[in-house]
Amino acid sequence: MEEFQYRGGALFCEEVPLADLAERYGTPLYVYSEKSIQDRFRALDEAYASIPHLICYAMKANDNLSIVRLLAGLGAGADIVSGGELFRARQAGVPGSRIIFAGVGKTRAEIAQAIDEDVLLFNVESPAELEAIAAVGKEKGRTARIAVRVNPDVDPQTHPYISTGLKKNKFGIGADHVLEVYRRARDEAFLEPVGIQMHIGSQLVHVQPIVDAVGRVADLVQRLRDEGVALRYFDVGGGLGIRYRDEAPEGPSELAERVLPTIRDLGVTLLCEPGRFIVGNAGALVTRVVYRKDNGAKTFVIVDAAMNDLIRPSLYDAHHEIWSVEWRDEREIVDVVGPICESGDFFAHDRSLPVSGSGDLLAIMSAGAYGFAMASTYNARPRPSEVLVTGCQHRLIRRRETYQDLIRAEEGL
Ligand SMILES: *Cc1c(COP(=O)(O)O)cnc(C)c1O
Repeated sequence: MEEFQYRGGALFCEEVPLADLAERYGTPLYVYSEKSIQDRFRALDEAYASIPHLICYAMKANDNLSIVRLLAGLGAGADIVSGGELFRARQAGVPGSRIIFAGVGKTRAEIAQAIDEDVLLFNVESPAELEAIAAVGKEKGRTARIAVRVNPDVDPQTHPYISTGLKKNKFGIGADHVLEVYRRARDEAFLEPVGIQMHIGSQLVHVQPIVDAVGRVADLVQRLRDEGVALRYFDVGGGLGIRYRDEAPEGPSELAERVLPTIRDLGVTLLCEPGRFIVGNAGALVTRVVYRKDNGAKTFVIVDAAMNDLIRPSLYDAHHEIWSVEWRDEREIVDVVGPICESGDFFAHDRSLPVSGSGDLLAIMSAGAYGFAMASTYNARPRPSEVLVTGCQHRLIRRRETYQDLIRAEEGL
């Protein structure tokens, strides 16, 4: 969290005290550092600089239009998983030629929308989906470019919910069926096989499983070449991990060093789909303590953010560091919880944290990825505001929802 630092006892994002932002925009509040996003994007871009490449930002990590636009301005494309994300990517100025469409359940309507936008390629996850793309292409008289998502059957050693490259996962097509899917695509007039893709999981702190998978997929590229299918794109997926607690994740340079020789030899363009790596450590969720409560056995710090705003602790038992916005030397063991009527509504259990009282501000760190993007209005809680900080400037990039927003789509009263 390089862009979140204490100065003179106050926690800053870049040049702006978080307390000022909380005062100005209210809490709970997502705060993002523009510099952090830029630095992460550039680290990837530089790691791959020696070969042709396109970084397709995985929008599901954080699809705020200002953030997607910022990345598009740096040269990023987008990795999308729904028609809604396609709409958002286009609204944010990402051209179709830099969009790749992933996901196991693309509907015909979504496929049609993506063909109309002339996306760079579809990552195909099943023979049935391939047939659907061919049929929609035929209806429109347009050829769709495709890549097959290979399930390389490697264990990424991450949380089971975010592991995707094992045979037992629903993703991709097993190596023994990949060739026949490409043959079918090669022989179908409205399909053009142009690439191959893999993505084995998320929050990977070691690159070895990715390297192993790249080796397996590279063998397939060679075999396809022998069969007259010459691919132009090799997509290594996303999944690079970040530091939430004390991890020391390997990053783009370690990955590049070990996979670029293989990809260079194949003479293909490298695609990648990072989400968390780019935005995860660029954001914090600022929240205010409402009450303290001591039940004899435990002390609870009840804050105004909840699992509807940031669900990762509840969903994955994920760890997020919690910092006090005003520095405190004294610490105590507490649970930090939200106001929602679920015991799963917590941010920390039995954690040693700076002592805080009603009205104090806390920052839940590393909340830039899968934070706001997974927020809901559960318990009729309007979703929080989002603010982007650049140096000493800050701007609202999403206003807090209102009660009117909560009921806007409802009819028939
Ligand atoms: C979720 C996902 C990503 C992004 O994962 P990160 O861990 O955020 O980098 C990339 N590609 C696919 C296919 C995904 O499902």
